[in-house]
Amino acid sequence: MVEYFMPPHFAAQGSNLVTHWYNGQEICIWIEKASMAKSNGRRVILFPLPLQGCINPMIQLAKILHSKGFSITVIHTRFNAPKASRHPLFTFLQIPDGLSEAETRTSDVTLRLALLNRRCEPAFRDCLTKLLRSADSETEEEKQRISCLIDDSGWIFTQPLAQSLNLPRLVLNTYKVSFFRNHFVLPQLRRERYLQLQDSEQDDPVEEFPPLRKKDLLRLLNEERKVLDSYSIMILETTKASSGLIFLSCEELDQDSLSQARQDFQVPIFAIGPSHTRFPGSSSSLLSPDETCIPWLDKQEDKSVIYVSFGSIATISETELMEIAWGLRNSDQPFLWVVRVGSVNGTKWIETIPEELMERLNENGKIVKWAPQQDVLKHRAVGGFLTHNGWNSTVESVCEGVPMICLPFFWDQMLNARFVSEIWMVGLHLEYRIERNEIERAIRRLLLETEGEAIRERMELLKEKVGRSVKENGLAFRSLENLVDHISSF
Ligand code: UDP
Repeated sequence: MVEYFMPPHFAAQGSNLVTHWYNGQEICIWIEKASMAKSNGRRVILFPLPLQGCINPMIQLAKILHSKGFSITVIHTRFNAPKASRHPLFTFLQIPDGLSEAETRTSDVTLRLALLNRRCEPAFRDCLTKLLRSADSETEEEKQRISCLIDDSGWIFTQPLAQSLNLPRLVLNTYKVSFFRNHFVLPQLRRERYLQLQDSEQDDPVEEFPPLRKKDLLRLLNEERKVLDSYSIMILETTKASSGLIFLSCEELDQDSLSQARQDFQVPIFAIGPSHTRFPGSSSSLLSPDETCIPWLDKQEDKSVIYVSFGSIATISETELMEIAWGLRNSDQPFLWVVRVGSVNGTKWIETIPEELMERLNENGKIVKWAPQQDVLKHRAVGGFLTHNGWNSTVESVCEGVPMICLPFFWDQMLNARFVSEIWMVGLHLEYRIERNEIERAIRRLLLETEGEAIRERMELLKEKVGRSVKENGLAFRSLENLVDHISSF
C-alpha cells in the first residue's frame, strides 16, 4: 500500500485536494484523503446494490473504513458498475449479473433486484470463496485478514453464503430507520383492510406505520406486489441473522426507531450518521455531473434558487414535465432543474417543451441532465429543494440546511416526506399534486414568505443538531467508532 507522510497538523478537508502551510508556503496535494491511514492488516469486502442511492453510501463507507486503516475490496455487478478509476486505492472486482439488455432498462426496480438476487449468486459465491482462499494462502508478510462482508439489506442470498463460509456479514441500510423497521408490516396491512379507503379517511394517520397518512399508505400498497412481499420477508430474516446493521441516520433523526430497532433485530446497530459529511463529493456518481451548475449558481443571489431533482429512479409523464416547467416559470424565482435523460416517460429528454416556453425558462433557470448535487446544496445561492425525498437527498438537504418541497414518488420517499413536512417541519408537502399553481405557490411560500423564514430557522436548528452528531464525540461519531471496533473484533 502507498503510504504518505502527513504532518500531524495536516488540514483534513474531506476532498482530494489537501492544502497545508509548510515552512511559510502553501502546498496543495492531490490525493485520496482515505490514503492517510496506515494499514491495519485487515480487509473488508463490500457489495453494493447497483443503484445510485446504494452505491454512493457504500463508497462513502469504503472511504471511511479505508481512512481507519482497512483495505477495501468492492465486488460489483456489471450493471451500473461503480467507476473504479476514481478510487485507485480500492480493489474492484466485477461479477457477471446475467441481466439482459431489456432487463437493465426495466423501470421495475423490484423486479430487477429479484432477478439480480437470483442470477448473481453463483458468480458472487465463486468470487468470495476465491478471495477467502487467497487470503489464507498469502505469506505471513502479505497476509491481510478478511474481517467481514458489508452489503445492502436488499441482497438476500449473501447471509446464508457468508455464514457457510464463516465470514461475518454486516448489513448497510440506506433507508431511514423508521421506514426499515416498520415496512415489514406492509404485507399484513395489504391483506387486512387498507385497499378500500374512503375519501374522508385519506388524511388519517396509519397507527401501524407512523407518521404515514392513509393516502401515503394506499400508494405504497398499490405499488407493492407479491414478489415484494416474499422479498421483504427474506430481508427481515437475513438481517436478523447478520452480525450487525449500519444505518446512515443518527439518534437526532431517528431516536425512537433506533431503540425499537435494537429490540426488533437483536443485532448490534450502528447509526453512523449521513456518511457524505465525512467524504463529500460526487466521485461515485454513475452519471457525469454537469459542472456548469456551479458557475451559474455563483451568479445568483443568496438563497434565491430552487433546486429541483427527483433522484436517479423516479420518472414523470410529459404532462407532469409541463406542469413543473410552468410552475417554475410562474414562480419567478431562479431555478436549477435536473431532468435525467429517459426520466420523462415516452420522450428522450425535454424536447417536448415548446420553444416559446423554453425561452422563458432560460431567462431565469437552468436545466441539466445530472448535477453535482452535494455541491449544489452546499451553495449559498440555493434556498430550497423540490425533491422526491430519497433518503440520501433528504439527509444531504438537512446537512446543508436547505428547506424542502416534498414530492415523493414511491416506497420510503413517502415516509421521509412526512418527517420533513410534519415531524421536523422543515419543508412543505405538495400532497402529490404535480400542478403548476401548486408548485408556484409552494416555491413562493418557501422562498419569499414569513412561513418560509420559520421553516428555514427550524432547518438551521436541525442542521446544527445533525452536524454536532457527526463531529468528534457526537452520537453518530461515537457510533462509527463502535462500528470500527466491532469490525476489528472479528
Ligand atoms: N444525485 C446527484 N445528482 C443529481 C441527482 C442526484 O448526484 O442530479 C445523487 C444525490 O446526491 C444522492 C443520490 O444521487 O446521493 C440519489 O439518492 P436518493 O436516495 O436521494 O434517491 P434515489 O436515486 O435512490 O431515488
